[in-house]
Amino acid sequence: MTGTRKITILGGGQAGLQLACGLLQNGFDVTVIQNRTKDDIRNGKVMSSQCMFDAALQNERDVGLNFWEKECPTVDSINFVVPSPEVPGEKALEWNGKLERPAMSVDQRVKIPVWMDEFERRGGKLRIVDAGIAELEEAAASSDLTIVAAGKGDIAKLFERDAEKSPFDKPQRALALTYVHGMKPRPDHSAVNFNLIPTVGEYFVFPALTNSGACDIMVFEGIPGGPMDCWKDVTSPAEHLARSKWILDTFLPWEADRCRSVELTDANGILAGAFPPTVRKPVGKLPSGKIVLGLADAVCLNDPITGQGSNNASKAAQAYLDAILAQGDKPFDAAFMQAAFDRYWAYAQFVVGWTNALLQPPPPHVLNIMGSAQAFPALAKRIANGFDNPPDLFPWFAVPEEAERYLGRLASGAVEAQVA
Ligand SMILES: Cc1cc2nc3c(=O)[nH]c(=O)nc-3n(C[C@H](O)[C@H](O)[C@H](O)COP(=O)(O)OP(=O)(O)OC[C@H]3O[C@@H](n4cnc5c(N)ncnc54)[C@H](O)[C@@H]3O)c2cc1C
Repeated sequence: MTGTRKITILGGGQAGLQLACGLLQNGFDVTVIQNRTKDDIRNGKVMSSQCMFDAALQNERDVGLNFWEKECPTVDSINFVVPSPEVPGEKALEWNGKLERPAMSVDQRVKIPVWMDEFERRGGKLRIVDAGIAELEEAAASSDLTIVAAGKGDIAKLFERDAEKSPFDKPQRALALTYVHGMKPRPDHSAVNFNLIPTVGEYFVFPALTNSGACDIMVFEGIPGGPMDCWKDVTSPAEHLARSKWILDTFLPWEADRCRSVELTDANGILAGAFPPTVRKPVGKLPSGKIVLGLADAVCLNDPITGQGSNNASKAAQAYLDAILAQGDKPFDAAFMQAAFDRYWAYAQFVVGWTNALLQPPPPHVLNIMGSAQAFPALAKRIANGFDNPPDLFPWFAVPEEAERYLGRLASGAVEAQVA
């Protein structure tokens, strides 16, 4: 290599800092521009439920960022429930699929400030500024490569929306998060308890690690205009908790039962909002004509219904790290940028397709798959492990004939449901 190559990353979240630390390990000169201080993040509001499955956790292990594996409670399975539409308080469907390896959720308020420290300890340069076009121009003029990993930050609008890859132009769910202590544990192993309430929305809940220790994170996905789209008039953390419990009392009594003694982890352990899932073109042009590369949520933003955003961010960071290392001394030009994104998209297209499909009323073949998993534990396990590797859900989750063929082979005992 001819001298140390310089890379600037705007946005120090899951993707930006994971990539930055990986680049430092490989001898690059790396600057991260971040708009919040460590204390702002540590003491601020939650932004995510950030449940990460094993392949994404492995990327963190590979760059030495897995600091919480001993303290963080594990998520050992996916438990899927559909309440009975006819008999209130009863379940129409329930199955549990064990994960091959556990998932974990470390509150980003815990994780990101420590990663910022670690990045600086490894020799990275951290600038705290709410960056706009001027800072990007400056970075692009002085760096071999400038990457924008600003998540849902406005600066991502620099990248053109890719209409072909973005079927929605409006939010598909009213989202809310409630971090609590005191939830009654499940009777057996831990799980993402995923409840799908037809025409109302989804509720999922799982253990996590927050500033005050182990907790549970409640995630609400309300269909717009329905009864779970109910956060706009909530004005205080106490009301937010009360509204969360009201939803469970009304639609999911078995979940309400676990929540008799819950309290908020802290006044900032709540969030309500909505955004349209959006894929953008990965190469952004600045007024000067210089180009920058978009990473993770900045260019591939999904609804959280499948809990994939942090997993995607980790996998995108890994794909870009591989692309940068493979580039050697060659320039980081537009062709390189497009190819780096395409390397990630080869994987992410499946995550986006699956996630967007779950936002729609399920077609008959999906109802059949989800229903059959109750009878075939091997199918339940395969769907559960699809959260770690969504491409394994294709084509049989997407194509009715493939679903029929696969379910037929399962029923005849011809195949064990392989887990990729
Ligand atoms: C309600 C909800 C629940 C979720 N649950 C899950 C889940 O269970 N599992 C999962 O995998 N994912 C989940 N996600 C998604 C996940 O949190 C994100 O996809 C992931 O954090 C994206 O990582 P990122 O690095 O792209 O962006 P971010 O983590 O958002 O990081 C971007 C960083 O850039 C900074 N920034 C922004 N603008 C600027 C600027 N102008 N200048 C400087 N810095 C800037 C931000 O402050 C931030 O630190 C959830 C999201 C939501 C909203």
